[in-house]
Amino acid sequence: MKVAFVSGNREQLPDAVIPLGLLSVMAATPERHESNLVDLCFEEEPDRALARRLGQLAPDVVALGMRNIQSGDYSGVGHSLDYYRGLVAAVRGATDAPLILGGAGFSVMPAKLMRHLEPDYGISGEGERAFPALLEALESGAGVEAIASLHRFVDGEVTSNPPQRDFLDMNSLAPPDRARVDPRYYERYGIDSIQTKRGCPLRCDYCTYPIIEGRVGRTRDPLRVADEVESLAEHGARHFFVVDSVFNLPKTHAKQVCRELVARRNPIPWTCYANPLGFDPELAELMIAAGCAGMEVGSDAGTDEVLLRLRKGFDTARIREFRAISQAAGLPDCHTFILGTPGEKLDDVLRTLDFIVDLDPFSVIIMVWTDDAEALDPQLARERAALRDAIFTVLDEHKDEFPWWSIPAIGVNYDPKLFELLRKRGCSGPLWQHIRQLRPPARRRRPSATR
Ligand code: SF4
Repeated sequence: MKVAFVSGNREQLPDAVIPLGLLSVMAATPERHESNLVDLCFEEEPDRALARRLGQLAPDVVALGMRNIQSGDYSGVGHSLDYYRGLVAAVRGATDAPLILGGAGFSVMPAKLMRHLEPDYGISGEGERAFPALLEALESGAGVEAIASLHRFVDGEVTSNPPQRDFLDMNSLAPPDRARVDPRYYERYGIDSIQTKRGCPLRCDYCTYPIIEGRVGRTRDPLRVADEVESLAEHGARHFFVVDSVFNLPKTHAKQVCRELVARRNPIPWTCYANPLGFDPELAELMIAAGCAGMEVGSDAGTDEVLLRLRKGFDTARIREFRAISQAAGLPDCHTFILGTPGEKLDDVLRTLDFIVDLDPFSVIIMVWTDDAEALDPQLARERAALRDAIFTVLDEHKDEFPWWSIPAIGVNYDPKLFELLRKRGCSGPLWQHIRQLRPPARRRRPSATR
């Protein structure tokens, strides 16, 4: 069958990132099918570009990947669904081929998105097994009842098959074929993505990631990881991001990967997500030796009560220990905090901001909570907007005192001109690494002291 794999993601802030998940599903699709990648990332008019490409290809099946529901600057969810509705309409106008939705964004709330976007099928979670099975069924006319995590309409109602019992063995998956990737990703951004594992054993209250990839960490053989890293330079990657939920869990695997990269003299700098749990001085040293240029740490809150409510599994003392280890090793740490999570009052937000001032990490990214469900629930969206507005006012008052913090939702250190400037200076990788040098510290006040 001729398959059009459509990557709908168009976010280019802070970086345009290759459609790793879709490429992985393509790599798992048997060669007897003809696979074509339609990437809308750099298209000015994505609906038209999609219709035109589908008209040329005349595919038998269209597979549309939804990477996110939230917008890239975490400022909201509404535009994203409108955008995907437009893509679905473009597909329907261009071809009668069945439309299959999938991807991380779709997997967050598959049944609701089936009703909202009305594709023919949806696949939630990992697609490398379910998608080829669905192609096989569509080709042969066989039933689809046994395909795990498949969603479809039966008599007008969404019917969802049970999820798979076992997740995929990461060592059985073919690596993504980067020769298919639009070269502009490398020419303009130079950043690539790689996975050393899937799954997260933690239970953060808000997180949908374990729904998508499971709670059992499935690690890749460090030799395979290093092989893939070695291949990145051929495509022009100047930096890679380890897109695992948490690189340093399990710690033993993270150390093995680092040792293999050290043995191969990896020349490409990289960054990763890290967690205050599972971190020690030996790992910090190994990461530096393996080329790690920094970590994005999901600290989330600066009070023990909120951390407990979010079920983060660590407290503020552990965040401070993590900071001390990374500082002693000279490994830059960028902590992300999410203000205004469910149950938080403005006072909790101020205490978190005070904590950040005391912690003084290498860099900070501040996000303001938006619930994915707001995309489909206007009342919830209105209720949440009131607290968000109060938080934005506080952030606006203090933004000049912490000029190296990034606050995407109000455009602080998160705008195309700044990023363009940094790239012209030859900076690559996550740009928080470079902002602190650009923006020296100013006079600092504890946010709560000024209320
Ligand atoms: S550590 Fe990250 S991926 Fe794992 S549950 Fe928490 S937020 Fe989700």
